[in-house]
Amino acid sequence: KLYNLVQDLKGNIRVYCRVRPFMPGQPTSLSTVENIEEGTITIRVPSKYGKEGHKPFMFNKVFGPSATQEEVFSDMQPLVRSVLDGYNVCIFAYGQTGSGKTFTMSGPKELTEESLGVNYRALADLNNSHNGINVPEANLVPVSSTDDVIQLMDVGQMNRAVSSTAMNDRSSRSHSCVTVHVQGRDLTSGAILHGSMHLVDLAGSERVDKSEVTGDRLKEAQHINKSLSALGDVISSLSQKNAHVPYRNSKLTQLLQDSLGGSAKTLMFVHVSPEAETVGETISTLKFAERVG
Ligand code: ADP
Ligand code: MG
Repeated sequence: KLYNLVQDLKGNIRVYCRVRPFMPGQPTSLSTVENIEEGTITIRVPSKYGKEGHKPFMFNKVFGPSATQEEVFSDMQPLVRSVLDGYNVCIFAYGQTGSGKTFTMSGPKELTEESLGVNYRALADLNNSHNGINVPEANLVPVSSTDDVIQLMDVGQMNRAVSSTAMNDRSSRSHSCVTVHVQGRDLTSGAILHGSMHLVDLAGSERVDKSEVTGDRLKEAQHINKSLSALGDVISSLSQKNAHVPYRNSKLTQLLQDSLGGSAKTLMFVHVSPEAETVGETISTLKFAERVG
């Protein structure tokens, strides 16, 4: 309770956590997650990663393995709707490859109505006329090449209602972003409101073993790690209300500069896998998330 109050006073930055279920057939007894209660997730820490024992991490919200897509979205819905009031909103999915980022943002490979992710639900929600709002040009288009993206961006630039998603088979090594711009008029005052929403499925946060990769692959990995830590630095200095916010340390934060900070609302949604083998990555994901919140 007190923690949530403190978070509310901190302003517009929220940090959520989601634990994905074990895959069918995996032994569930070996989970690295000891307990999930309200906003706290407790991890079993083996001695290899510092003091052996149980470490709790606290967030605004923790979703366990049985949380449905609908439960997750309904929690985010007020944030999504604030775009209609002219707010800028960024939602980031962070975590190691395989932790469920794409599942949360887009859904599984074979989509059903229940499994639709945040992207689809958010666009559908903004497009609902029950809201008195109508975004006819907004659509979600999967793309497979840079040319497709460029073509979409051209169309989007013309429409001023941009929606694009860059997905490719190397998606774990790239950030993918869906952006929606909403323009509306306050019916009482007549004022024009501009809101925007960035839904970002970040590249996998796993540290790459320098002994295993070289050349371009290593450069790429270092680049990803640099942009993720630059994002962490920006969000953490915003949540600490620092005078200087280091936007210029990465392209990602430069691109999103206008949508991070000020009255903008940010949700950092961290994802963890339950497997004990990857507990090292899980701990570093949770530490990253605690630092930004
Ligand atoms: P990431 O994007 O972080 O690499 P994915 O979203 O691709 O991870 O998830 C890895 C696998 O786990 C996929 O097969 C995905 O469908 C499945 N998965 C992830 N999260 C869930 C969940 N909450 N419920 C059921 N399956 C999930
Ligand atoms: Mg993914």
